[in-house]
Amino acid sequence: MTVPASVLVECPQCKAETLHEVLSGKLGGKSVSVLDSTVKCKDCGHVHHVTVKTPKPVEIPIVLSWLQESSRGKIVLGPDEVLSVGDEVMCGEMPTLVTSIESKGARVKSCKASKIDTVWAKRFDKLKIPFSVNNHGRTFSDFVMAVPDEEFFIGDILELNKKQVAIHSIRIEERTIRTGSALARDVVRVYGAVVRKTLQHGARPKD
Ligand SMILES: [Zn+2]
Repeated sequence: MTVPASVLVECPQCKAETLHEVLSGKLGGKSVSVLDSTVKCKDCGHVHHVTVKTPKPVEIPIVLSWLQESSRGKIVLGPDEVLSVGDEVMCGEMPTLVTSIESKGARVKSCKASKIDTVWAKRFDKLKIPFSVNNHGRTFSDFVMAVPDEEFFIGDILELNKKQVAIHSIRIEERTIRTGSALARDVVRVYGAVVRKTLQHGARPKD
């Protein structure tokens, strides 16, 4: 950790929390980082001395699963941050979804970071699923974002480009399917057609 260039502290002149420039200072502390420094209020220019204590972030071991494999890593959280099953959390550059939390040897639904022993998570990177859509003779391209396990069914209707689009075939690797479904992770391209709006019979305005 390094001495920050500025800190948000109470200014005795402004009688409010303001941004202060750190003129000089040193960091210490073990579980809590203590910044001892001379600061200058950016609002009124008042120079004073402050001691800022901030809890140090904690490193939590994480078991990351992806398909049949699992790997170990670490996530960094503030000690008072609460993590819950179902939360999205970054493991390095990897977006993950928390599936299980262990604290003091027991599985818990949610827990303060400082009390967590291990986190289990699965990869949660979203995929870009390309669509080719036939709009009454003209084709347009679009895409949707989906998690790898998301299923696309032939006959599903979804909204693309503000139009209702029905899926009629899905390209997966070497073949095209026209019945059933495919997982997002296997999809190369989805083909659909804009659904004609149903005419409202008998919806003529009354006179
Ligand atoms: Zn001030």
